[in-house]
Amino acid sequence: MDFQFTAREEALRKEFEDFFREEMKNAPPGWGASMEAMISDDACAEFHRVMAKKLGAKGWLARPWPREYGGQDASLIEQFIFSDVMGYHKGAGYDHWGVGLLAPTLLVSGNHEQKQEHLPPVARGEIFWTQLWSEPGAGSDLASLTTRATREGDSYVVNGQKCWSSGAHRADWGFLLARTNPNERRSRGLSFFLLDLNTPGLTRVPVYSTDGAHQFNDTFMDDVRIPARNRVGEENEGWFASQMTANFERSMIAVFSYIKREIEDLVEFCKSVKIGGEYPARNPLVRNRLAQLAIEADVGRAMSYFIVWSQVKGGLVVAAPMAAAAKVAATELVQRLTWEGCRIMGQYSQVGESRWAYLKGRFMTEYQLCTGLSMAGGTSEIMRNLIGAMGLGLPRSW
Ligand SMILES: Cc1cc2nc3c(=O)[nH]c(=O)nc-3n(C[C@H](O)[C@H](O)[C@H](O)COP(=O)(O)OP(=O)(O)OC[C@H]3O[C@@H](n4cnc5c(N)ncnc54)[C@H](O)[C@@H]3O)c2cc1C
Repeated sequence: MDFQFTAREEALRKEFEDFFREEMKNAPPGWGASMEAMISDDACAEFHRVMAKKLGAKGWLARPWPREYGGQDASLIEQFIFSDVMGYHKGAGYDHWGVGLLAPTLLVSGNHEQKQEHLPPVARGEIFWTQLWSEPGAGSDLASLTTRATREGDSYVVNGQKCWSSGAHRADWGFLLARTNPNERRSRGLSFFLLDLNTPGLTRVPVYSTDGAHQFNDTFMDDVRIPARNRVGEENEGWFASQMTANFERSMIAVFSYIKREIEDLVEFCKSVKIGGEYPARNPLVRNRLAQLAIEADVGRAMSYFIVWSQVKGGLVVAAPMAAAAKVAATELVQRLTWEGCRIMGQYSQVGESRWAYLKGRFMTEYQLCTGLSMAGGTSEIMRNLIGAMGLGLPRSW
């Protein structure tokens, strides 16, 4: 593996750095804690939209895509550098669902017309997406989902309920998994659809978190009509497309860079603020645990580098076990980091908007959110099952 970047790549990194350092000065006060703010807070959501258009105008959301679909035919490494810098600066404007999940899936599994219609608006930062997969009875066991899509002429009629639809109330379109063959109970009877969220019969119902934030929605579909041209891939073969989405979701460099920044901020805090009359940085246990977090963050970054290098060598789709390992490593490290921050700050960590709040009170929010990270996009247990079976060759447990 070659860790050197070219002069051109280093120049690009600087351009990304300069942009995010400057633009993120305008972020609303609530910006910065995981994804919650960009979805639940009006000012943050607006800032996110404005930033998406700025990134789109620069062509930075879609660098590695083909030019005919709004991209620049750039290398994956350049996109990786972009994500690295964006993660470090907690940058706004990147639609995780549209740019991160939907677009790579369409590039692999969509037809020319679908790519032509849907990719350029994502590249310009104009259209936002949500993921309509999970159901009340189908999460880890997604293949058991029951939302039904029945072919009627040139369209499909969809009935069912999706849950956990993150940001659906801010999104314009959703990518949906629904059952097109009721006789196939498992993944073989599913199809993948692109759904305009303003279609009649679709209702988004807010699901509020215990802190009052509106991040999630239940999405009900009652005789919703989707044109057949919005089916991605063949009928009953949507599982393949959905697995492409899953693999792209898990390379994780932006999260590891975000962690690096959080550790730096926490270290600075420990050196500059006294807790109980003493700087935490003088406490050997604190120093030891911060060092451990820094080691794990660097291991994680190396893992991300390895994934992008493998993609460059072997094609766009990340091997599932490798991507699953990065997902487990990144999300569980965010949790350990958050718990450590809370342990260091003690009860101050649970103060939000107050003069007693340290680091803008973000540990309070992160403490509430970080547990969900190892569930979203597939739980850690499911990731470990996958690593065991596909990575280590152990007998399947499911
Ligand atoms: C923050 C967050 C955001 C999300 N955003 C979205 C979204 O935008 N769109 C969307 O469609 N979904 C979303 N989800 C849903 C997410 O994909 C599911 O929560 C996840 O797949 C788990 O499904 P479940 O909640 O039904 O739990 P279950 O599948 O019921 O699992 C319950 C527990 O059992 C364990 N378990 C289940 N099966 C096995 C097994 N075979 N082996 C070992 N352990 C097992 C699980 O690991 C878990 O601990 C989100 C979830 C969260 C927390």
